[in-house]
Amino acid sequence: MPYFGCHLSVSGGFKKMGTDALDIGATTFAYFTRNPRGGAVKKPDPADVEALKTIMSEHGFGPLVAHGPYTLNPCSSDAKVRDFALMAMREDMERMDEILPGNLYNFHPGSHTGQGYEKGIELIVAALNEILPGVKHTTVLLEAMSGKGSEVGGTFEQLAEILSRVNCPEKMGVCLDTCHIYSAGYDIVHDLDGVLEQFDRVVGLGRLKAMHLNDSLTPFASHKDRHEKIGRGSLGAATFALVVCHHSLRDLPMILETPQDSLKGWAGEIAMLKNWAGLPEDE
Ligand code: FE
Ligand code: FE
Ligand code: ZN
Repeated sequence: MPYFGCHLSVSGGFKKMGTDALDIGATTFAYFTRNPRGGAVKKPDPADVEALKTIMSEHGFGPLVAHGPYTLNPCSSDAKVRDFALMAMREDMERMDEILPGNLYNFHPGSHTGQGYEKGIELIVAALNEILPGVKHTTVLLEAMSGKGSEVGGTFEQLAEILSRVNCPEKMGVCLDTCHIYSAGYDIVHDLDGVLEQFDRVVGLGRLKAMHLNDSLTPFASHKDRHEKIGRGSLGAATFALVVCHHSLRDLPMILETPQDSLKGWAGEIAMLKNWAGLPEDE
């Protein structure tokens, strides 16, 4: 059975994310490793992190899906922007290794800013090849993107090419975001099986380590990235009912990134997803 959760704020500490997760019926969650501007991160209190780990093991949590700041761009044409992305990602992964070994770190591959996909991929691979040898206990995930603007990672082929060229491919995987791939032109509304078969052929289902569950405000193949609440957008409830039951997606952490005003909104969505997945609501 999949693990369900949403993004939680790290600002109240690590234990607080664990208790918030329990409050909303979650058994995984995501958090941003630093604010979107990419600023410095304060050192976490080891006792606070230990308290989270206790909650996670007592309540059978799945892997956490930490998210790198989406403003980082390891394939920018600007060397300063690339250097900053490299520094921040390295620091994030070292921190994950140190405090929460055995979990996932997801990031957006980046935007080639006019240099073309081939150059973009080359720069992403170069950045990963500097970082990965030092990563020990964290699986690093490329997020599948909608392909807006010059975004890299809007096709399964681009993700596969990055994975095939890194020096430590065993430390990497993919996170599929339902809104992004539908916007990118993978029709999971009418042919979820076909899309997953295609992913398996091009990337390999063994590489799939996490999902982001978002409905979409924009139509199929729009190459936009506008998340909507589950069941309220162009993907629709029936698509998610299939996703949470799909045999190829079993046991994955599935993270909601839907627009909600409060934790209550995600609690409602998690209850709905559990119901579709045939899980009891209070577990
Ligand atoms: Fe993301
Ligand atoms: Fe996402
Ligand atoms: Zn998105």
